[in-house]
Amino acid sequence: MGSVTNLHLRNLSKSFDGVDALRDVSLDVADGEFFTLVGPSGCGKTTTLRAIAGFESPDSGSVRFEGTEMSGVPPEDRDVGIVFQNYALFSHMTVGENVAYGLRFRETPGNRSDDERVADLLELVDLPGFEDRDPDELSGGQRQRVALARALAPGPDVLLLDEPMSALDARLRQTLRTQVKRIQSELGITTVYVTHDQEEALAVSDRVAVMNDGRIEQVGTPEAVYREPDTRFVAEFLGENSVFAGEVVGRGTAGRATDGADRSGRAVRVGPATFRLPLNAPEGTEVVFCVRPKKLVRGPGENAFEATVETVEFLGESFRVHLDWEGRDVTLRTAERPTDERLRVGFDPADAHVISGNERERTLVDR
Ligand code: ATP
Repeated sequence: MGSVTNLHLRNLSKSFDGVDALRDVSLDVADGEFFTLVGPSGCGKTTTLRAIAGFESPDSGSVRFEGTEMSGVPPEDRDVGIVFQNYALFSHMTVGENVAYGLRFRETPGNRSDDERVADLLELVDLPGFEDRDPDELSGGQRQRVALARALAPGPDVLLLDEPMSALDARLRQTLRTQVKRIQSELGITTVYVTHDQEEALAVSDRVAVMNDGRIEQVGTPEAVYREPDTRFVAEFLGENSVFAGEVVGRGTAGRATDGADRSGRAVRVGPATFRLPLNAPEGTEVVFCVRPKKLVRGPGENAFEATVETVEFLGESFRVHLDWEGRDVTLRTAERPTDERLRVGFDPADAHVISGNERERTLVDR
């Protein structure tokens, strides 16, 4: 166990009865990486995973493990371990027998006996001594850990996890994801994880691929996709970002900095307001940008506007406030519960992330 491999998907496409499940999906997963496919229901996550496992043959494109083309290689010869959403344990077998079942696929038996290997695997998934239990006696989280031990038993090169926690309650999901992450990094096994839960994806992954409608929208580290979304879809799906669309109407008005550089950016009209943004684009350019909830601040200041409070949610450390501004949804995180119906909020130009419309992304005009 612990062998690692890298995975390459190239231009995978697949349709079912005219429905395009995958459209030209290309991905590289590195040795030992925890890689997550995240996106809404029906975006193609499971189909991608099944193509890696060999349960689905793509209409076009290729899957390679460590440089070896996998088309025509049946699932049982691909050295993948899989855990599905619904703990598919054999209920007529004990926990130990379930895990031992996985050992039957082991290519190179080590010097430990099967019983010892089962004990090791149960130890690994935090269920030491559970050999003689029945799966029916276990909680959902425990069953998923047995399923994980069984998937890992043959010492697969790649671990595939398809929404393994979605049947569990929120608390259990959090505990289990921490355990899965620990086990994955202990083994250093290349892992592809599927979830529709963006918080989970950002919490556990080395990198994530955000999928939408059969396509990859963006691949990157959790920080990169969260802070610098490439598309409006990613901005809205991942981070409760407030997304604004407008048009360049002139230069910004902040003037020149002391070094003589013009950092005024551009004035962008959005509905009834004009914001200053760090942009370099001619008048008339359509601009889409987003602001993260914590970067919207209350009170007067630059790029301010007044919006109506729709709902307030208490999150423990802060409040999430959903606002309506001229028909647009705007989200704010704030330490104090707002008492007024109308709030004045604004953002620093440097905290706006421009998604499209900037000729020189994320740089200020310095001519
Ligand atoms: P979910 O989170 O709901 O499982 P997903 O992102 O995993 O969604 P897929 O299961 O990969 O999405 O499905 C992508 C698209 O392909 C969907 O429109 C789905 O209905 C369709 N699809 C997937 N498998 C089949 C199939 N065997 N037959 C017909 N259509 C399918």
